[in-house]
Amino acid sequence: MLKYVDYDIVFQEIPYEVTLAVNLSNCPYRCKGCHSPHLQENVGKELTESTLSGLLQAYEKAITCICFMGGDADTGELYRLADFVRKSREGTIKTAWYSGNDRLPENSTDYFDFVKTGPFIEAFGGLNKKTSNQRLYRIDNGNITDITHRMR
Ligand code: SF4
Repeated sequence: MLKYVDYDIVFQEIPYEVTLAVNLSNCPYRCKGCHSPHLQENVGKELTESTLSGLLQAYEKAITCICFMGGDADTGELYRLADFVRKSREGTIKTAWYSGNDRLPENSTDYFDFVKTGPFIEAFGGLNKKTSNQRLYRIDNGNITDITHRMR
């Protein structure tokens, strides 16, 4: 099961997309300097297909992408929900995932148009820093491109 805490429309997390970012809890990572320590707790409401349908109905005219912020605790459910978004919207809304995994998680390229990898390491900084360990990938018809440079 995945739980979400809140959501917001954001403009910088995925380049050139207007993104509905859904903040998922129960993050299994323990990054020092975590921007949202409350997301390490198992809190919030269950994220279901019904919840996603409601969010998409409310915001789909305003957004081009939906980004799952977290979800590493249950990747099977995450992939299932991303697949639901793609199928229910016939690909008109792109899917993205901000993962804390330090490499592209297995099968993630089958369900997302964008995947961010890497835990937050204070000494290296976030995606907008040249020193960052984090990477943002674009996945297009099986082709994987590192587009981290677009975040700077
Ligand atoms: S992956 Fe993100 S939410 Fe999880 S501990 Fe690290 S910074 Fe915090």
